[in-house]
Amino acid sequence: MAYRPMVGLEVHAQLLTTSKMFCGCPVEFGSEPNGNCCPVCIGLPGALPVPNKKAVELVIRTGLALGCQVGESCRFYRKNYFYPDLAKNFQISQYDEPLTFGGTIELEADGEPFTIRIRRAHLEEDTGKNTHLSDGRSLVEYNRSGVPLMEIVTEPDFTSADQVRVYLLELRRLLRYLGVSTANMEEGAMRCEPTVNLVDREAGNATPKVEIKNLASFRVVHDAVSYEIERQHWCLEHDEPMRQETRRWNSTEQKTTSMRVKESADDYMYFPEPDLVPIVPEAEWVESIRASIPELPLQRRARFVSAYGLPEYDAEVLTDNRVMADYFEAAAEASGDPKSASNWVMGDFTYQLSEHGQTPDTCTLRPEDLGRLIALINDGTISTKIAKDIFAEFFERGGDPGAIINEKGLEQISDTSELEAICDAAIEANPKAADDVRAGKQKALGAIVGFVMKETRGQANPGLVNEILQRKLGQ
Ligand SMILES: [Zn+2]
Repeated sequence: MAYRPMVGLEVHAQLLTTSKMFCGCPVEFGSEPNGNCCPVCIGLPGALPVPNKKAVELVIRTGLALGCQVGESCRFYRKNYFYPDLAKNFQISQYDEPLTFGGTIELEADGEPFTIRIRRAHLEEDTGKNTHLSDGRSLVEYNRSGVPLMEIVTEPDFTSADQVRVYLLELRRLLRYLGVSTANMEEGAMRCEPTVNLVDREAGNATPKVEIKNLASFRVVHDAVSYEIERQHWCLEHDEPMRQETRRWNSTEQKTTSMRVKESADDYMYFPEPDLVPIVPEAEWVESIRASIPELPLQRRARFVSAYGLPEYDAEVLTDNRVMADYFEAAAEASGDPKSASNWVMGDFTYQLSEHGQTPDTCTLRPEDLGRLIALINDGTISTKIAKDIFAEFFERGGDPGAIINEKGLEQISDTSELEAICDAAIEANPKAADDVRAGKQKALGAIVGFVMKETRGQANPGLVNEILQRKLGQ
């Protein structure tokens, strides 16, 4: 194709602060409507803003994790427009002196590496919220007005909807690892606005930029970007005129529709916020923020493969959230068997977490105890089957797995003379299978092993049973 898609993304993330951006009102999801407001965040005359230092720190933390530089002097601007959910008639944002700028992130989609440049990560305040009722009335709610909002803007480097999805998933993971945002799209804590246009690979001319709004989930972002790329290709082929505009996603019809002709920065008449002095982040402070950044999910994933020898798949699942990754590492260390620890954490442990509605840091079962259970399997004290049978109870009780095993008398039978006798009985009880094994049909051994396991309630050491039976049947 002669035209290449150019997609850029603006992501807004609500920051995990306890108070709003320029006042002391609490930031809470699900509070009583208009209960968290004061003269500053509803813009009463004479109210003066005071910046929230924690919010500034969280944006710098994110910017540094994305490889950005921190501005030497960062200014707030007024972005002027009228809307009922914006009581001041302007939003305090940043313009040409953002807190952080110029980063990159390296990712992979369908096995193909790609690099996205981060233009800036800056700080602004959220607006209120309008709810339009079916009887024609509209309600305005200001609890969200003034909540600290980080905006992360990329260069238009994405060439497909798949790349956009990979980036958003990684960004959400990163924001959660850094503890800067819940990044929950369903609560509106993370919102995303793509811009899409096409550029002629040779001539360099491009179609007008289209911004898409009203995207409530990762899947919808993916669908909308795909649709818009196709729509612009179609317009080019059919000589349909296009214009710079804002379109919204209509999920019923699965298409974008025109919302308004795009406003330019001039329409907002940005000017420096006269009530706030520029922020000058001290180098020492920036360095202390840098030092507090934990190992990031992409690095951690790579280390899980190189240090523990885990498959890529395991590494990706385990590092998806930080507490799960921490849990795995502690279990791996206690068991001395990372691959088994990974299987247990991703399998039975994750199942029990969801059954009980818990997370790795709230459940009773400590990773050290899970590690001990794995060690007991590996040293032959219990079989994997027994471990699985007791796991639901073990998950609820926690503590020393040896206690449950002792109480229930579930130690594996590894006493050779005891097993010899059971094996003799098993051969006697299964003469046909025994003859088949003697005749070289190894498959028939299963029936005899099954008999031994049944007799011992699954407690016979399977390795030893196999060895004894093979010897007795002359193999
Ligand atoms: Zn307030």
